[in-house]
Amino acid sequence: MAELLIPPAQQLIDGEWAAARDKGELPVTDPATGQTIQAVARAGRADVDDAVSAARRAFPAWAATSPSERGALLRRWAELIGRHVEELAAHEARDVGKPLSGGRMNVYIAQGIIDYFAGAADKLTGVTLPTRTPDYLGYTVQEPYGVCAVVIPWNVPSVLTAANVAPALAAGNTVVLKPSEVAPLAPLALAELARQAGFPPGVLNVLTGYGADAGAALTSHPGVNHISFVGSTATGRAIMRAAAENLVPVKLELGGKSPNVLFADADMDVAIPAIVGSITENAGQNCYAGSRLLVEASVKDEVVERVAAAMRAVRLGPWDADLDMGPLVSEAQYRRVLGFLEEAPRAGARLVTGGGPAGEWAGGRPGGWFVEPTVFDDVDPGARLYREEVFGPVLAVQAFSGTRQAIEMMNDTDFGLLACVWTNDVSRALRLAQEVRSGQVSVNQFADAGVIGFPFNMQKDSGFSRGGGHGAMREYTQEKAVAIRLLDR
Ligand code: NAD
Repeated sequence: MAELLIPPAQQLIDGEWAAARDKGELPVTDPATGQTIQAVARAGRADVDDAVSAARRAFPAWAATSPSERGALLRRWAELIGRHVEELAAHEARDVGKPLSGGRMNVYIAQGIIDYFAGAADKLTGVTLPTRTPDYLGYTVQEPYGVCAVVIPWNVPSVLTAANVAPALAAGNTVVLKPSEVAPLAPLALAELARQAGFPPGVLNVLTGYGADAGAALTSHPGVNHISFVGSTATGRAIMRAAAENLVPVKLELGGKSPNVLFADADMDVAIPAIVGSITENAGQNCYAGSRLLVEASVKDEVVERVAAAMRAVRLGPWDADLDMGPLVSEAQYRRVLGFLEEAPRAGARLVTGGGPAGEWAGGRPGGWFVEPTVFDDVDPGARLYREEVFGPVLAVQAFSGTRQAIEMMNDTDFGLLACVWTNDVSRALRLAQEVRSGQVSVNQFADAGVIGFPFNMQKDSGFSRGGGHGAMREYTQEKAVAIRLLDR
């Protein structure tokens, strides 16, 4: 079996590892120590030109391969990932700072996604259309766009690589992927495995570099036919503006401020650990993190106490200690989260637990960006902590009375990614699921665990996409409608 090597300071263009044209590099650091893990290439405009040209050259032949062949290559890629789980998990965990078992879980999820689209590749169909008389035939075909630019953030790089690259390739597109400058190692390692699986040169290219140069040059490149962006709402807006110049379709998966809505009749032994996990997993750096807890007033004090006790028990450590929670990904993210922690009490919130840097690690290890798991109660619905995405282990709690107020508070956000409802009353659960304005809703569990091909959808400022599931294949294709008159000759 070939080794999984990521050559230092190189990126993958046209099937070859190569340094940036101007030899630029950027360091990737371990956020638990601040030490450099390795350098990656710092792509500039010339590298973007090379990658897009390679993807354009590869497109006609790739689009012409049979969907079953594309599926077979994707399946081979998934198999190779299965043989390199530990190396990939270490890249994901170390780069982002998450516990190793979290990295491992992400790699298995990525493998499952690629395997799903391996199976979906030859099941993408159009429809035949009814006609006014038998003299006509009408049908649709799904066609790939061409070159897809995929720009992803740092929080779950392997999952986001798989979720965006696999459906695009399955549908017959070629891809230029730009991972985050903060966590590019797992995407590079995945791309190396795709190369080993036998994808033709130019079908999957990976550029590493900063958003302002490589990301902006890629998403405004006239050779790109479709853009998938996962990241912050602010960057999503900038990318959409750039895409308008070239009239290119954009798929956006942005931020969130997801509520856990907890009724007094819920099974608390199931709900409370899940609610704590929803804001401490990956140190709260998940787009769907359960960052608002809306709890029925009659049980609020008891719930807040139990949640706070569970937050205090969360064990912090670097990726290889494999405890419960790692540091934040970078100093910038650390300073940002501390800003929210300092501001919240001034805005009237009551600190229940946490509230600052985690002494043991932040003080004990220079450069470690650890923050305490934190709970604020009575957070004013107008406060920044209640309304804005923190992207850290910080929970904002508010009480509600009755189903109607729960619905109003659940929807009182600019975001629309996920809402989780905790109740044993079926009709109330269905009422909330019906009225919520978010792309996803779950009942008596956090998020979509257990459902295969769950569409990862968004509404409002969280973006718009048909990610995850079979819908993603349609996201990466355009529909052509064909009308034929059947002549009697
Ligand atoms: P970010 O928006 O700063 O960066 C995301 C990516 O965009 C990076 O690769 C970056 O280099 C690139 N980029 C930055 N500026 C750019 C520009 N002007 N043009 C083109 N590319 C540019 O986000 P982040 O800080 O890396 O990640 C955190 C955000 O990602 C959070 O808001 C989180 O909610 C979101 N996220 C969303 C989902 C989802 O599915 N909805 C999933 C994970 C993360």
